[in-house]
Order: sequence, then structure tokens, then C-alpha cells
Amino acid sequence: MTAGIIERYAAYLPVTSATPRVTLGEGSTPLVRSSRIGPALGLDQLYFKYEGLNPSGSFKDRGMALATARAVEAGARTLLCASTGNTSASASAYAARCGLRAVVVVPAGGVAAGKLAQALAYGAIILIVKGSFDRALKLVRQVADDPAVALVNSVNPYRIEGQKTAAFEIVEQLGRAPAELYVPVGNAGNITAYWRGFCELARRSGASLPALHGAQAEGAAPLVAGRPVTRPRTVASAIRIGNPASWSTAIAARDESGGTIDAVSDAEIMAAHRRLAREEGLLVEPASAAGVALLLKRAASSAIGNAEPIVCVLTGHGLKDPQALTRGSRVPRAIEPTLKALRRVLG
Ligand SMILES: *Cc1c(COP(=O)(O)O)cnc(C)c1O
Repeated sequence: MTAGIIERYAAYLPVTSATPRVTLGEGSTPLVRSSRIGPALGLDQLYFKYEGLNPSGSFKDRGMALATARAVEAGARTLLCASTGNTSASASAYAARCGLRAVVVVPAGGVAAGKLAQALAYGAIILIVKGSFDRALKLVRQVADDPAVALVNSVNPYRIEGQKTAAFEIVEQLGRAPAELYVPVGNAGNITAYWRGFCELARRSGASLPALHGAQAEGAAPLVAGRPVTRPRTVASAIRIGNPASWSTAIAARDESGGTIDAVSDAEIMAAHRRLAREEGLLVEPASAAGVALLLKRAASSAIGNAEPIVCVLTGHGLKDPQALTRGSRVPRAIEPTLKALRRVLG
């Protein structure tokens, strides 16, 4: 059995021996070497950290394991979050695991079908509110003073702490830190967590530090514009966020690492989404392709040089958003089961 992130990294996390080892087997996700996109770009060492293989299908599970453990330890009975989908799926799963109640607040029309289905299946109480994710987050943050309710958005410090373990794993898997790391940015908790993880490793064991490149969607790029976006728009619902909670730490991660936070268009995101599926066999949801879209954009303008290894974080699983997978495709109609028909297809 593979231990979860609390068990594996207890020495580097804010836990004591009294903290319950809550786990669904999160973490230990594969670092998959690129077989076709990398070579096409002239990159020999391009890797994908496939976080879609976490128990509820996104990296959120790393932080949720720890946030849930600390909530249980503190006597909370309810996990509460606002969510573009994956936080609610993850919170619902860990709440079910621990016999807690999950209350998830999601923007109307703003959540991919698979994620809503997950929250329903895990037995969460779902509150669909009119308005954006930013409004939903603002709402749940007002319930901060009830000790029976644990807010498990990435404003919860244990979320970031748990998520930094992805950086630890990448360095273990590569045997060194990458030169560059590409990651999609929404509420900006994850880029904050990666930077913290890499910095801690550098202090502890002298590992080098990667440049962090954060990808926002053009229609939801407050960190690129330098001001909040009132009506964020993008096909990538997981990063459809106009006023990131971890704003200043994301900017610090960018500047201290010598990286960038840049915007990619929905067309670029969907092109990367398609290439990951068709050229790598990696199914991701649209937001997860944003980092790869930024890599492709930078490669096209020769901004990469010979910085290797390069890691792109694939944040969530493709089955979360089945609509995005079938956009522009047609399901073939049924025909008679004849050898002739099969031969025609085989050519
Ligand atoms: C949450 C999420 C993101 C964005 O992460 P932040 O920490 O909010 O920046 C990106 N991709 C997926 C699939 C997510 O679920």
C-alpha cells in the first residue's frame, strides 16, 4: 500500500503524532516523460506531472488530506468550500471518508459536469449560487468564526502545505529540481505551494530552484493585467477566477523564481488539450492544459533556450469535463457488424 502525503511527509508538514493520518492514497502521481510533444519542440527532457490521477481526480486532494486531518483534529463536523468544481469534489470525498458533512458552494453554470456529479455522489450538500466563484468565496469566508465548520479553500493554510508535497515528489522523481515548471493559475494557491515546496527543499538539501511559469486564461488573467477581472471568462472553468486569494504569494513566486505569469487564449488551451490526448495519451481537463499551452507559446517565440528538465503540471483529469473532450467531434453512428465494414475502416 502506498502511504498518503501526511504519512510520507509528516516531518515537513504541520502535524503532530496526534494528527489523524487521513488519506485516500493521494500523491505519488506519475511523472510521465513526453514522447512526442517534447521531441517536436526539440526538448529531450519534458515531463508531465499527472495530478489527474489523484483519488478525486485533481491535485486538490493533497491539500485536502491535510486540511481534513487538521479539521478532524480540531473537532470540526463540516467541511465548507466555494469551488469551481475540483475543490468541492475533493472536499466531498474526504468528508465522506471521515464521516463529516461537506457543504460546497458553486457558481451557477460554472462547474464541469463530472465535478458536480462527484459532489453529488459523495453525498455533499450543494449550494448553487448566482454569481461568480469570487462571489462564492467571499460568501464562505464570512463563516470563519464557527469552530464546527472548517473552511477548506486554499485560504486554509493546510491546503497549501499539503500541496507543496507535489514539488517534493518531482524532485524525488527527477533526482533534481526542474529548470522550469509550468502550472495553470486560478486562485493561485498551487503556484504558491510549489514555490514553497521547492524553496524548502533548497534550504534543506541544496536543491536548485526552478523558474515558475504560471498560465492564466486570457479572459481570466488578473495577475497578468495587475487588477481583478469582474467577469472572468474562459473554457477552462477551474481557472475562471477574477480575484485570486493568493495574489501576492503568486507574484512573489514569479519574481523570486525568475519566472513569468502569462495569459493563453482558449484556442491555445484547447489546442494543448487536444495534443496531450492525441500525441501523449494524457487526458486532462481544459484548465490543466493551460501550462502546456504556455510552454508551446514560449517555445514558439524561442523563450525557452536549453533549460531542461522541464515539468508541466497536469492538474486535473480529463473525465471531469466530458463536454470539453467531445467538442468538435461526432460520435459515429451504428452500422451492421460486418467484416466488410471493419475492413473498410482498417483500410
Ligand atoms: C484548482 C485548479 C487549478 C488552479 O489552481 P489554483 O490553486 O486555484 O491556482 C488548476 N487546474 C485545476 C484542474 C484545478 O482544479
